[in-house]
Amino acid sequence: MPKSSFVDFKAVKAAIHMEQVLQHYGLSDQFKKSGDSLSGPCPIHKGSNPTQFRVSISKNIWNCFSECKHGGNVLDFIARMENVSIHAAALKAIEWFQLDPEAMSANSDENGEHPSEAPKNSTAPRPKPAFKPAPENNTPNKPLQFRLDKLDREHPYLKERGLTLETIIDFGVGYCGKGMMAERIAIPIHNPEGGVVAYAGRWPGEPAEDTPKYKLPQGFRKSLEVFNLDRAFKESADKPLVIVEGFFDCMILHQHGCKKVVALMGSSMSPAQEELIRQHTSASGHIIVMLDEDEAGQEAREEIAGRLAKFAFVKVYIFNKTSTRPEDLSAEEVQALIGGAL
Ligand SMILES: [Zn+2]
Repeated sequence: MPKSSFVDFKAVKAAIHMEQVLQHYGLSDQFKKSGDSLSGPCPIHKGSNPTQFRVSISKNIWNCFSECKHGGNVLDFIARMENVSIHAAALKAIEWFQLDPEAMSANSDENGEHPSEAPKNSTAPRPKPAFKPAPENNTPNKPLQFRLDKLDREHPYLKERGLTLETIIDFGVGYCGKGMMAERIAIPIHNPEGGVVAYAGRWPGEPAEDTPKYKLPQGFRKSLEVFNLDRAFKESADKPLVIVEGFFDCMILHQHGCKKVVALMGSSMSPAQEELIRQHTSASGHIIVMLDEDEAGQEAREEIAGRLAKFAFVKVYIFNKTSTRPEDLSAEEVQALIGGAL
């Protein structure tokens, strides 16, 4: 048996946080933070009420007040999500979050504990788990073996967001009548090689309070992908790369002639996303960071620009009106921007 099979559950639990695990499952967007707690729909029983599942950040525990009617620690959560034992959940966590297997292995000679037992009420201090600050699982998202077909390309919501039929077809988006993204606008997400790795599902309109705006397939890690990257980098290296937050920002800018545009699918840039952008940027490459003019965007853009500036010439685009999003720019404004950026 490999040494890592004897898992020190306490060390694993101490090394990972519920927030990281939710992020791993691509669920961060569905959760609201308020003080010490995160609340959202229960990912275990796949509920929709946005307050039924709560996480205490400081205690690193969760509770489902609805169907599941129970809670637990971070390993209990992974075990439930994956439908595996606590032991298997700990091994997964070690792999996903790149924990040091040595530091996470229980030395059974020393404490005489059976590895599957809960830690005894020992108050002896344990060595702090050495874990690498890489809370990401870099196992690539696998390309899907299927395509959602019969998507309605003429759904009114698409028009409402300003997309032309040409853009709709170009990006392959459409309203999904049934299937995994039923009653949502399905947006295919491609990996850098151009394979479809997931569909994001946007609720067409303002969703009810208990319905998330976006749905992503379970297990899909959006932190490993950059939306539209596969196509953006087919554009000339001389053109600036525009980085936005959302799918619609990206599609609208593209429609307005700014073809070298990608979306982070949120207001943060993961290390894997940064690496993808770096790999595809030449030494003299220009990047324009254009996040939403809101609190999250304003907070994130300097940090993102700072990281990108290590390998490219970076500009931060600032809108002169708060709560403006890149998708609010007119075709003329976009043209002026990309024309003037070089
Ligand atoms: Zn539940």
